[in-house]
Amino acid sequence: MQNFQLSLDSIFLRAEQFYPDKTVYTGGPAPAKLTYGEWADRTRRLGGVLDTLGISADGRVGTFAWNSGRHLELYFAAPCTGRVLHTLNIRLFPDQVVYIANHAEDEVVFVDRSLLGLFLPLLDRLPLLRHIVVMDDLPAGADRLEVPDDPRFHDYEVLLAAAEPVEFHVEDENQAAAMCYTSGTTGNPKGVVYSHRSTWLHSIGVLTNAGIGLDETDTVMPVVPMFHANAWGLAHAAPMAGASLVFPGPDMTPQGILKLLQEQEVTLSAGVPTIWQGVLPLLDGVELPKLRRIPCGGSAVPLALSEAFREKLGRPILQAWGMTETSPVATASHVPARNRDLAEDEQAHLRSRQGLPLPGVQVRIVEPGSITPLPWDDEATGELQVCGPWIAAEYYQPDEPVQLTTEDGWMKTGDVAAIDRFGSVRLVDRTKDLVKSGGEWISSVELENLLMAHPDVKEAAVIGVRHPKWDERPLACVVLQEGATVTGDEILEYLRPQVAKWWLPDAVEFIDEVPKTSVGKFSKKDLRTRFADYHLE
Ligand code: ADP
Repeated sequence: MQNFQLSLDSIFLRAEQFYPDKTVYTGGPAPAKLTYGEWADRTRRLGGVLDTLGISADGRVGTFAWNSGRHLELYFAAPCTGRVLHTLNIRLFPDQVVYIANHAEDEVVFVDRSLLGLFLPLLDRLPLLRHIVVMDDLPAGADRLEVPDDPRFHDYEVLLAAAEPVEFHVEDENQAAAMCYTSGTTGNPKGVVYSHRSTWLHSIGVLTNAGIGLDETDTVMPVVPMFHANAWGLAHAAPMAGASLVFPGPDMTPQGILKLLQEQEVTLSAGVPTIWQGVLPLLDGVELPKLRRIPCGGSAVPLALSEAFREKLGRPILQAWGMTETSPVATASHVPARNRDLAEDEQAHLRSRQGLPLPGVQVRIVEPGSITPLPWDDEATGELQVCGPWIAAEYYQPDEPVQLTTEDGWMKTGDVAAIDRFGSVRLVDRTKDLVKSGGEWISSVELENLLMAHPDVKEAAVIGVRHPKWDERPLACVVLQEGATVTGDEILEYLRPQVAKWWLPDAVEFIDEVPKTSVGKFSKKDLRTRFADYHLE
């Protein structure tokens, strides 16, 4: 067979050649719609802009931007001209953004005008940055921050209008196409570098029905940010499939998202659980007949959330699991054919698993610290390890050495899971979130799932707090639905028949909101700090 290079220019070419009439729509205050034909022309010109700006042959092209058509232009223009797209997470702490942009040695950053207020204060600490290209995403007449009078600043549209379109060519499928930093709990953020080959293969994996499953008939809206883990591969998979795209732009409110789902007749839309939790209360009386698939992941999808979507829209949520280090999609939870006749609540339990690995990905669970696989009996739990063509082998120039993979080449995820005899993964917890009581582990995820199924509970996070006898005991931090008056004791009584006696949280604390990380996940780190001195008898 031919040794054909799996590089992103071939994905770009497909969209350009076969699907020129499909569309890329960006919402927000200044909506814009392009055909793939127009997008392709602009993307080729953007390649010309990178040349004109003198970005090095393998230079890092930073983005500080919402999900938008322009961001999609960057997604292809940078790697298809040999450069490396580096998406900066706009929600990180300023110190982290500065660290990441300097560590990656970004030469240029493309910034949405609506984000200038966040970006400009960082500028003095980014000495390597030679150019800042501003993408105006605000409507005429809107209040906007002045662009500084500094020769390093450029306007995106002005540059594009003056540029010549370029031919795309990528020499080697193993060269870097993109990078993304993940913010661990300790130390500085760590960079993951995606190659053309890994991104190409991941896109195919996402396209399959064992993955997220999209095709040419779809209109895909990634609510999951393009600045975090490649919008779960949808920004590559949609052009590959020839599916139209809808991007929310700066308006990430539940109302804004629902409006786009309706008006743009979106058929597939992916976001983290907090996004769908926000949209849920707006769904009464709403019909979304076109929406056929709602992929969700990044943290455990509460069974109650998926079921509420099934009840309101007739379609449950599709759970997927992955990490920045796994490109990110590694497993997806489709109900297998043999279980399709089961009662709906039993199917709901299957959907609350993380599911089967995508074709190409392998999974195993091991005793922490060993490489001996544990049995697939859905009971044994151990560290989840994965390997495959889109799984990271190492971090990009880490400050301190990190052993990401085992001696036999499997990536250590830091998640704890069980696997059933059919190979379906069930995540029990992250290693660091397990509550260790008297030498036994309690799954915070499972308790949260049960708590969030209580009709008066809006959100719940369970953390371990110090206990004089048991070392650690679970504390349930609960956010109530508006107007609810249930007491802590009533919540514990509700849990009692559903869990082993020693799993029952020792106390319930009512809080106004579960703190969230930069990408909308529950931040247990913050809760642990808040309740560090919590006193249990
Ligand atoms: P971080 O949250 O550390 O910045 P990632 O976004 O890469 O980095 O998060 C990956 C982690 O998110 C996984 O290791 C896992 O703990 C959690 N996660 C992702 N998807 C799921 C899921 N479907 N169910 C439970 N946990 C999930």
